[in-house]
Parts: sequence; C-alpha cells; structure tokens
Amino acid sequence: MTKPIRAARGSQLTTRGWQQEAALRMLMNNLDPEVAERPDDLVVYGGTGKAARDWPSYHALVRTLTDLREDETMLVQSGRPVGVMRTHEWAPRVLLANSNLVGDWATWPEFRRLEQLGLTMYGQMTAGSWIYIGTQGILQGTYETFSAVAAKRFGSTLAGTLTLTAGCGGMGGAQPLAVTMNGGVCLIVDVDRTRLDRRVHDRYLDEVADSLDDAVARVLAAKRDRRALSVGVVGNAADVFPELLSRGVEIDIVTDQTSAHDPLAYLPVGVDLADARDYAAAKPAEFTDRARASMAKHVEAMVGFLDAGAEVFDYGNSIRGEAQLGGYQRAFDFPGFVPAYIRPLFCEGKGPFRWAALSGDPADIAATDRAILELFPENESLARWIKLAGERVAFQGLPARICWLGQGERDKAGVRFNDMVASGELSAPVVIGRDHLDTGSVASPYRETEGMADGSDAIADWPLLNALVNTASGASWVSIHHGGGVGIGRSIHAGQVCVADGTALAGQKIERVLTNDPAMGVIRHVDAGYESAREVADRTGVRVPMTEG
Ligand code: NAD
Repeated sequence: MTKPIRAARGSQLTTRGWQQEAALRMLMNNLDPEVAERPDDLVVYGGTGKAARDWPSYHALVRTLTDLREDETMLVQSGRPVGVMRTHEWAPRVLLANSNLVGDWATWPEFRRLEQLGLTMYGQMTAGSWIYIGTQGILQGTYETFSAVAAKRFGSTLAGTLTLTAGCGGMGGAQPLAVTMNGGVCLIVDVDRTRLDRRVHDRYLDEVADSLDDAVARVLAAKRDRRALSVGVVGNAADVFPELLSRGVEIDIVTDQTSAHDPLAYLPVGVDLADARDYAAAKPAEFTDRARASMAKHVEAMVGFLDAGAEVFDYGNSIRGEAQLGGYQRAFDFPGFVPAYIRPLFCEGKGPFRWAALSGDPADIAATDRAILELFPENESLARWIKLAGERVAFQGLPARICWLGQGERDKAGVRFNDMVASGELSAPVVIGRDHLDTGSVASPYRETEGMADGSDAIADWPLLNALVNTASGASWVSIHHGGGVGIGRSIHAGQVCVADGTALAGQKIERVLTNDPAMGVIRHVDAGYESAREVADRTGVRVPMTEG
C-alpha cells in the first residue's frame, strides 16, 4: 500500500528530457486512481493487466527514468527494469517486453506459476506499455463498432433497439455510452455493483435498476419510445442471459465484455463475489472448470438469441473459446467483432490513434480537437465523434483524446501537434500512441486476425516486424506483449508511443513512425489478399515488393 500515484503536470521537467518525462508521467498516469482499476495492486485494466511487476520494480522504474540520459535506453522485462544501455538519440528511451512465453509453455497455469515466482507479469495491451487513458480509449472503438452494427442492420441508428451485454469493468464500461451515443438502449449485467456505480459516476452509464424486473421494464419503455438509455443490473450473466432468453424479451443486439479471457477472473454461477479471489487462488483448476461451465451456459444463451434473429458478436474477450472448453459445441456460431465490422477499417490502416496532454490542461486537448477538425473536414463521423467526446467524455487522469485515423492521416495529425507545441499553442508536450489493437500490430486469431482472407490468422511475424520498424523509425517507447485482450497463448502484439516535444527532431521521428506504423497494417492486409488495402497502398505510396515489377 502506497500513497495514491498522480503524474506531474505542467511544463517543468522532473527528469533529464521530455522523452523520459513522458514515459514517467504515463507510467504514473496508468496507476492514477482515476485511471487504474486496482492501483494498490498495480492493476490498470483487463483482469490483471499491470503497469509494473511489483512495488520494488515500480520504484526502480521511476528512479531509472528520472535519471535516464538522452542517449540511453531502459529495458523492461515484464514490468521490471532489467538494464540501461547506451544507444543514441533516435533510439527509443524505453523498450519493453511483457508476458512473453515460448509457445508450448504459453498457457494460463504455466503463466500463473511463473507470475507467482515473481518472474513475469500480465501486461494486457496498454497497461504494461503505459498508454492506457481510461475507458475513453475503448469508448471510441466501441462507438465505431456499434455504429457499424447500426449501419449493417438497423438503418444507421440504434434508435428503437435494445442491446444486451455484460461486464461493466475498465473496458466493458464503455459499452452503455457507446450504445446511447448511437441512439440505442443498453442493458448491462455485472456481478459487481461497484463497477456499475463507478460508470454512473463517470457518466458512461445512466442508471442502475433495483432488480431484473425493474431493469427490463425500464429498457423496454425506452425502446418503445425510441429514447437512448442505459441501465445496469447486478447479476451473473450466466444466470441473467438465459433468464432473459426464456422470458422472450425482445433483444436486438447481444454481446459481452466480462473478463472471460481469464477463467480466474470470470465469476462462476453459485460463487459469491466476496469469496471469488480467495477461491480462485486456493483452487485454480476447480475454479477454472466452474467458470468455463458457466461461460458455456452464458454463450448458449447468446446462441439462443442468435437463433431468435438478434445480431450477436464476440467482443474480443475469448468467451467463445472458453465456452467451447466448457463443453458447449456451438460457441463459434456467432462471429468476432473484427471480421464482422472492423477489418475494412484495418485495410485502410485505420485504428485507434490517441494522445494525452502532459500539461494536464484540458484546454490543450480542446486545441488538438480543433486541429483534428481542421485537418480532416470531410470526415463526418470523425467530426461527430470529436464533438460528442468533447461533450460527454469525462477525462480520467491526464486529459486525453482518441480517434480512429488511417494511413496518410496519423502522420499529419502528429506533425501538427508537434508544431503546436513548438509555437506555444499547447502549453506542454503531448504523447501520441495507440492501442495494440490496431491494424498491423497484432496477431490474435480470436480477435484482430480472426478469419483472415488467406488463413494467416496465427502468423505472429507481423507484430514483431511492427515493433522493429517503430524502433528503427524513432518511437519514444516500443513494446512487445503476449496474451493481451484474449489471454495467454492467444495473441502477440506490439505498441509504440511518440513524444511531440516541439523539437525539429521530434517532428522528423513522428513523421516517420506515424507513416510506418499504420503502413504495417496496410502491407499486412495487402499480403493477405485484401484488394482495398492494395488500393490504399497504391494511393499512399506504401511499397509492397511482391506487387511490384
Ligand atoms: P475488467 O476485469 O475490468 O471487467 C470485467 C467485468 O466483468 C467486471 O466488472 C466483473 O465484475 C464482471 N464479471 C466477471 N464475471 C462476470 C459474470 N459471470 N457475470 C457478469 N459480470 C461478470 O475487464 P475489462 O478491462 O472491462 O475487459 C473485459 C474483457 O474485454 C476482457 O476479457 C478483455 O480482455 C476484453 N477486451 C476487449 C477489447 C475489445 O476491443 N473488444 C479490448 C480490451 C479488452
């Protein structure tokens, strides 16, 4: 137990330079109680996704970053600083490798064993790579997904539709607001009342019902009136979903974001929330079996809704795989959200571009919002998002913004931000990063690379090349992780962050990184045979040797 962590604000350095300062502030920001789910345990989001392995490692990270020189690089092995190397000013200041295991050892039990020995930590995607910005990060992606659902099935609006989902945690908590931003009604189930209350406090969830009957009455009334509304209800999804199915409640869209990727973080039916952690620690194998059996019931109900005509999708938490392990055979009857809605965007190099103001001043984000609107005036859905985000999103920790930008767009925005720092239009430098859930940075056969056109779903060379090219292009910190999002054994992914400190050098690095990073996604999709990616490559000058000559 330490005192709450809060990153420094303002334009005074506490380290030897802005690249190091940015890494330090973002590490601390990840653990700010406004941002992190369980800061006392160093857990940022996504079950047990951590920013540092343990408290001695955290303090060593802070100490080392504070003293790190501009031609040095700190190496981080699963949340622990293990070396400082002499490099050069174009090199990243920090290189991180989190949660990686050799293939045959890449299982949850082996990972847990090594974690208990203090040898590794679970880095999730942006927890261990210090660019988590709270639930806004996922809100944009979730907003995009529900817009795509609306476009596909419901005449481009969710007005008059009811979405059922579960899991109101760090990521899942974005679902109710994403649905209401699209005009729809959302019923969200969580076993933990405090998770629902927290999202009401953040204005991501409108209200919490007293009982399932009360919740159903409220959402059906809103659906009838075509009024946007989100309602939370306390319960176990493996009980509530089958109950709603058997009652015949008219539900249009069904998904789920419980922490199903980790069977020790999903509450089995019949287990008290208060006992779950001790039980999982004492009898992990038994707990896993019970969690998977419950997920089988949960997914069986989702397939029931599918059979009844609802739009049903897996929201990237591996619940289909776990339900199958729990003995349910039809788990993969419904698709993952990426092949269903997101892949066309990936083909254009589009993905979750994000930035945070190191000043701590919301006015800096407002200025960057205006810059984005000026840079891309033709993009209506982007303009809608930026406007709604400005009105509805409460910042958590350092003020930050996210929007999806593609090849030829991200570099423009990054260079503009750097110019704004140089001119004093922004009061301090800005960090520019992204989720690992991006176009060319992840191999994850149950999520980002599910159902690739050429069957290359599990090929993990791409994220490794992505990390290498970002390192070679001048990113400020670069990370390679395993197991984020969908769990150990199921994904390999990479991240990068650049610091716009207003210098000419930063401008050159940003221009290269933010061109090459999304270009990895374009070439990955060209290689897999997507024609739209090939058109983007031609249009934006991305070279793909096998299509030349
Ligand atoms: P979290 O641990 O913060 O929240 C999970 C929530 O699920 C908790 O509030 C918990 O109380 C609830 N829960 C657990 N078992 C339940 C049950 N049986 N019934 C009802 N509620 C239950 O996790 P998170 O950060 O919100 O992430 C959720 C999942 O989404 C994870 O599996 C994560 O890997 C995945 N994820 C998806 C995306 C995406 O883009 N789709 C991105 C990141 C993470």
